[in-house]
Amino acid sequence: MTVATLTASAELLTRLARPEVRDLPAYNAGLSSEVVRQRYGVSHVARLASNENPLGPSPAVGRALAQLAQTIGLYPDANCRALRAAIAARTGAKPEQVVVGNGSENLLEVLCQAFLEPGDRVVTLLPSFGLHEIYPRMMGAKVQMLPVTPALEFDVDAWCAALTAGPAPKLAMLSNPSNPVGCMLDAAAFRRIVQATPQETLLVIDEAYYEYALRTPGFPDALAELRAQNRPWIVLRTFSKAWGLAGLRVGYGIASDDKLVQMLDRVRTPFNVNLAAQTAALAAWNDVAYMEKCVSDTVAQRQWLATQLHAMGVRMAPSATNFLFVDLQRPNGPVAEALLQRGVVVKPWKEVGYENFIRVSIGSVQDNALFLQAFADAMRNPV
Ligand SMILES: *Cc1c(COP(=O)(O)O)cnc(C)c1O
Repeated sequence: MTVATLTASAELLTRLARPEVRDLPAYNAGLSSEVVRQRYGVSHVARLASNENPLGPSPAVGRALAQLAQTIGLYPDANCRALRAAIAARTGAKPEQVVVGNGSENLLEVLCQAFLEPGDRVVTLLPSFGLHEIYPRMMGAKVQMLPVTPALEFDVDAWCAALTAGPAPKLAMLSNPSNPVGCMLDAAAFRRIVQATPQETLLVIDEAYYEYALRTPGFPDALAELRAQNRPWIVLRTFSKAWGLAGLRVGYGIASDDKLVQMLDRVRTPFNVNLAAQTAALAAWNDVAYMEKCVSDTVAQRQWLATQLHAMGVRMAPSATNFLFVDLQRPNGPVAEALLQRGVVVKPWKEVGYENFIRVSIGSVQDNALFLQAFADAMRNPV
């Protein structure tokens, strides 16, 4: 094929695509370890860009998966009955209020598909978890992004003002704690935002870092607070972070009503959570002690790393999560590149206004030490 026909076809495709899709930013998923190994010639890669659990899942998960070879010829349970029952039992929900997704990102997607029409208002945070902006825009919604304060905290006054001004937002999407900043709304601030949210707004509380945030005093009991309200809401959590199952893609939501779950069930693919994912999530869920140990280790390592960075004079946001949002006070690209050359992958933030920040995940003891050394080098010798 000639260059000319390729170009013609690319132009045609741009014209055929929905306008919402044409203008979408790509999700910034970062480099794979394999690419880093090859491109930079390093033998060890410290993966500190995706907030994964460095210890991986409970050993019970491996045992459960080893039994699966006999049954993978069969479709999984389209309704995730066993997993939903287990989640319901521990969270005090009814199974009918629980929905499971191919990662919680899948639930964000089906929420947007089920509820958003072109022109609908959506309110979310800036800087943001990319999909909180991308999925609403994909549906043609107008996304209003509320910046954190200069001190890198939620701007609760701005949230209350945005929620009460103008037509009611169709969705308010709020991650608590936030990704990428790591800041947290405490119980009083959370209550203020909930009370400022119009009754006609579906409140989506993304608690991807719930298990870590429970270790920070003041973290709100969102389910208890929301259950006391007569309004639509959903709380999203995931098996990808503290439970160590990012590779298998399982997230869940606890919804205000059975009806909300039924709406999402109409939109999601029927077998959105595969057999290995359902099996692994149930095994992980039944080994709470293992998860708690991982979270304890990670929180201790986060405190260690924050102390070391503070001692170097580095500014960062207080974190209730398994990552730190670090202010380099200079463009992040050259520093991130210098880190890659040393085998350390972090996430240089790309949203306008935040290009001086990197987000670094808390990894293993060895990788955190490697990061600290490489970071000191990279700040002295950016690329
Ligand atoms: C990691 C993350 C998710 C996505 O989790 P998956 O269950 O892996 O899709 C969702 N929301 C936020 C804020 C996250 O940081």
